[in-house]
Amino acid sequence: MAIQDPIEEGLASGWKHIDASQLSEGRTLEADVVIVGSGAGGGVAAEILTQAGLSVIIVEGGPLKSSNSFNMEERRAYPNLYHQAAGMKTKDKAIGIFQGRAVGGSTTVNWTTSIRTPEPALEFWAKEKSVTDLSRAELDPWFQKMEERLNISKWEYEPNRNNQALKTGCEKLGWDFTVIKRNVKGCWNTGYCGMGCPVNAKQSMLVTTIPSALDLGATLVSRAKVIELEHHNGKITGVKAQALDEQLKPTAIELNLKAKHYILSAGAIHTPTILMRSGTDDPHQLLGKRTFLHPTLLSGAVFSDPINAHSGAPQSIYSDEFVWRDGAAGELGYKLEVPPVHPILISSKTIGYGKSHAALMENFNQLQVTIALVRDGFHPDSQGGQVHLTDTGFALDYPLTDAFWHSARRAFASMAELQFAAGAKQVLPISEGVSYLNSWKEAKSVIADMELAPLKTVVASAHVMGGCAMGEDTKIAMVDSHGRSHYYENLSVMDGSIFPTSLGANPQLSIYGMTARNATKLAEELTASSLA
Ligand SMILES: Cc1cc2nc3c(=O)[nH]c(=O)nc-3n(C[C@H](O)[C@H](O)[C@H](O)COP(=O)(O)OP(=O)(O)OC[C@H]3O[C@@H](n4cnc5c(N)ncnc54)[C@H](O)[C@@H]3O)c2cc1C
Repeated sequence: MAIQDPIEEGLASGWKHIDASQLSEGRTLEADVVIVGSGAGGGVAAEILTQAGLSVIIVEGGPLKSSNSFNMEERRAYPNLYHQAAGMKTKDKAIGIFQGRAVGGSTTVNWTTSIRTPEPALEFWAKEKSVTDLSRAELDPWFQKMEERLNISKWEYEPNRNNQALKTGCEKLGWDFTVIKRNVKGCWNTGYCGMGCPVNAKQSMLVTTIPSALDLGATLVSRAKVIELEHHNGKITGVKAQALDEQLKPTAIELNLKAKHYILSAGAIHTPTILMRSGTDDPHQLLGKRTFLHPTLLSGAVFSDPINAHSGAPQSIYSDEFVWRDGAAGELGYKLEVPPVHPILISSKTIGYGKSHAALMENFNQLQVTIALVRDGFHPDSQGGQVHLTDTGFALDYPLTDAFWHSARRAFASMAELQFAAGAKQVLPISEGVSYLNSWKEAKSVIADMELAPLKTVVASAHVMGGCAMGEDTKIAMVDSHGRSHYYENLSVMDGSIFPTSLGANPQLSIYGMTARNATKLAEELTASSLA
């Protein structure tokens, strides 16, 4: 069946797209609103603002790719679609971080799990982080709007065997589990969401909000990295961007973008980095601090029959048995999920080398992998990381604290118990120095004593949040509860950087819903002021 490519069709229909790698001289562009970044926040903001009749420029550091180039090959997808070719790490290299870098941002490569913001997180923000008007009752209409827009609905098909093991383990142990809602339409169930959906079924920003904004006359500038915001007397006066070449290396060509209002949607890490580079006001030194990752632990399990965890919807079951058990501010809880298991992805996130690594990879098709995403930012000993500017860009310093390791040990035990209950022959906590465990009894005693430490224990993240927190108290927040800057009257932030803690759930739907709410309010204000 021929696959329609909405990007090729849109470009042929006359979309205003500037690929900055093809420019031979600098450009100055002007609109009502400039949006930096085209991911979950930027995409939703662009659609809502153009629908309100405002002119919009979206500037994106990554390339405009489409299903025609999503060929399901890891070796091409990671360098083309991810920051640092999917090899980004924290400063001490102890945590691997995945973030998208292409039109559509991380939504182009994410795994489609769609979960409304958990109530305990919102209650914590209201009580401890001076966030107002953001209860679940206030947010639910916005979640519903975005669920309809992005076709978010319960996955009605059989889970793949990787997810089925999570479900079976929960059933056997009487643990909570939920069937995941996904933002897909006509999904082929291939399992390659992380390499860009080859059939445009994933309702990412690349095939939904960005095309709709372009149809309404927005301008997209791709392969242009925003370097800084210019500012004067409490107002942003312009955006300076640098054109990148086809390999995303900087060129000498500069773009100047001017607007009445500016929105930063470059994602956590990058939104604070742009503000820091620009020298914008930050009297309480908050920028880049409290960056959260849901630091994630992995447990492998060998089954006697094939699991084929690369195939089928990557995530269709989760368990919240341990996330909020001790209350939001109690011990760090963890959410249980599974990842897609592709060869490069898994071999870069496992342990051993030489013969032991080869032996692990020999079991590839029999390998079930469970992950525990640790909820960071609530407990006093879980303050997240700090982004710093460096000569070459930025670094994220994220100390893994005692509270985290305590939770990690519990998480490894829960994962092993679950995997044995689901029928695993052997379980391997992904941490150096541990070998295959043959029973839950053995696992229980080995995990209680195993050494857990940075660079020995594999820790990863695909959920980057915080660093430019929202709230009404300027001592702890950079933007208000609607994402408007406390310091610049014509600046908003609409992305995952505004979360005051992590979420305890996968972030995309939280970003869609909160951005829909904030962009709608902004559009009303901007259109009212232009009429006046
Ligand atoms: C592999 C993977 C799987 C995931 N799976 C899920 C999932 O199943 N469910 C879920 O809820 N979440 C998932 N996530 C996370 C989710 O996609 C992100 O939390 C969400 O997309 C973040 O939205 P954002 O707007 O903050 O940033 P992003 O979507 O990351 O967009 C930011 C954009 O800004 C651009 N940018 C950055 N700096 C600059 C600059 N200086 N100039 C110009 N442009 C810039 C980036 O290139 C990027 O395109 C996953 C993420 C990854 C990487």
